[in-house]
Amino acid sequence: MLQAPIPANDAARLQELRSYGVLDSPDEQVFDDIGALVRDIAGTPIGIISLVDENRQWFKSCIGLDAKETPRNISFCGHTILQRTPLIIEDALTDPRFCDNPLVLQEPHIRFYAGFPLMASNGLALGSLCAVDQHPRQLQPHQIHALERLARLAVQQMELKRQSRLFAQSQQARQEQEPPNSALRPASALFTSKEQLLSMVELMLSQSNQACFGIIRLEFKDLRRIAGALGEATAGVLREAQRERLGQALPENASCCELTDQEWLVLAPFLATEAQLCELAAAITQQLHPPVGMGQQLLSSPVAVGAALVQGNYGNANDLLSDAAIALRNAARRPGSHYSCIDLASRIQAQQDLELESELRRGLRKGQLEPHFQPLFDLKTHQFKGVEALARWRRSHGELVMPSLFLAAAERADLLGQLDLQMIRQSITASHAMARVKPDQEMVLSLNLSSALLENAALLEELFALIDTQPLPQGWRLQLEMLEGSLQQADGDIAQTLNQLHERGVLLAIDDFGTGYSSLSRLNRFPFHSLKVDMSFVKLLDAPEQPSNRILEVIQAMAEALDLHTTAEGVETDGQRQWLELHGFQWGQGYLVAKPMPLQDTLNLLHTHQDAALPL
Ligand code: C2E
Ligand code: CA
Ligand code: CA
Repeated sequence: MLQAPIPANDAARLQELRSYGVLDSPDEQVFDDIGALVRDIAGTPIGIISLVDENRQWFKSCIGLDAKETPRNISFCGHTILQRTPLIIEDALTDPRFCDNPLVLQEPHIRFYAGFPLMASNGLALGSLCAVDQHPRQLQPHQIHALERLARLAVQQMELKRQSRLFAQSQQARQEQEPPNSALRPASALFTSKEQLLSMVELMLSQSNQACFGIIRLEFKDLRRIAGALGEATAGVLREAQRERLGQALPENASCCELTDQEWLVLAPFLATEAQLCELAAAITQQLHPPVGMGQQLLSSPVAVGAALVQGNYGNANDLLSDAAIALRNAARRPGSHYSCIDLASRIQAQQDLELESELRRGLRKGQLEPHFQPLFDLKTHQFKGVEALARWRRSHGELVMPSLFLAAAERADLLGQLDLQMIRQSITASHAMARVKPDQEMVLSLNLSSALLENAALLEELFALIDTQPLPQGWRLQLEMLEGSLQQADGDIAQTLNQLHERGVLLAIDDFGTGYSSLSRLNRFPFHSLKVDMSFVKLLDAPEQPSNRILEVIQAMAEALDLHTTAEGVETDGQRQWLELHGFQWGQGYLVAKPMPLQDTLNLLHTHQDAALPL
């Protein structure tokens, strides 16, 4: 009989094995399930999880055989741990290494043995997962693959137990050290510099024996808006209050840093399971969500929390932080305060998002953006008054993509401002073709302007230069539509931008009016020319006695009082048109006249209605 040699690194191996605290532990269902699965997969009567100790092999689970351990010097597993690949003995009686082994010649009369090494993450073998039979047999490749996977799973289970044990020990040590009712750790002790925290993460990831831990990114969704509206000092006080609260939600051993003025990073060691991570993320969200009392007022600043768990699955801090960022983005998409832990589906989604973003970036460079045009018409005379240009993306394989499918990607990839500029440039060129069909007509070329452009000084300069150098045809005016939500900069800044546009003769319109929250007195301070009333109100017109009718009446009365022009969006029926006309609305836009269409169709429509009235 060939006795397995003792490997050179056996001392380190034994130390590693003992750190799991699993030797001589009581039976556990999860390991017995794995033992039973070995039997099922291999089709053998016996399935074993064997750990190779100094002088014995000890069975964490032994299904189909009544044994707890055997001496190491006669064990098959002593051989298995010498290699990284499975050790498969199809018939021990014909194998010179084992034919005279007492385990073969006597009970349990082993003939077939397949051992799959149980490798710790640092490469040391702890033991083996083995299938044993009293008859010779063979394993198919798919069985071997499945058992290899099962061996990895068994080690992961052991790792989980080890992490939970370490966590429990650290909790206990903390309780013993802490005098009862001691004060909570002050927030200042919780926070460290960004550089320090990131190097701590790198260090933990580089350990050959990577510990389990959690990374949590949290974002105060409205902090920038609050700073803009109520001042930096208020935002600072709010931030300070949230620091204290965070300190109360986190375990003692956690550390934090500020990534930006509204995003923080938390490192939570000793988290072993997804459930523990989600529990902590939920606790943070719950703790930080309620409004903070500031003098006379309550300020709410919802938080988004994104979490990722390290279980030996990350090679560098970048991947880890970007997974937590994906989870954060998922949480931030929902209104209010939410948390999200990274999972496979969101990783795939993020991958697809990235692909779409880079395809769009290439598409914009290649000129795949295609403005379509929808008529603006006089509700009373049906005259053609202008067009709104709406973005379409003609993808490489010819498919036409609607804005709902690419604007979010454009925003994420920071392309939205560029997209708006391209739309304006191309639409001005198109307006000249329209003017040739219908010369000397007063017309409006209306375009959407995103906050991405409004808030970017360099892009604004480009916009002004474009307006100054690319004049519209005779009789045409440029109108720029913006959402109430995009006017969140400080009054002084936005007023300056809007005035600069106004001075260049650009008409300014509020888009989707009625869906935002801006105060009228604020809007009245800016040089707006018109309101585009959101189609959700118009849609409800057909049902009589809707309260929205009254809202529309109020909007129109208010617009008249403020001397604002009105365009009703989403006019689909003649009934709606009549009501709107009767109640003083001036222009309409909607499927009643035409859907947005390519330039050529727009030219055709203009051509067939030279007399200016549109078909209804
Ligand atoms: P919007 O500016 O409110 O544009 C009106 C949207 O309503 C258009 O959708 C239009 O096709 C649709 N619509 C017009 N009449 C009717 C109608 O009678 N019934 C119904 N159900 N819908 C009607 P579209 O083209 O899908 O654009 C969606 C949104 O995407 C636009 O809403 C605008 O917010 C944004 N968008 C489009 N092009 C651009 C662009 O170049 N830049 C920016 N920043 N946003 C754009
Ligand atoms: Ca619009
Ligand atoms: Ca609109």
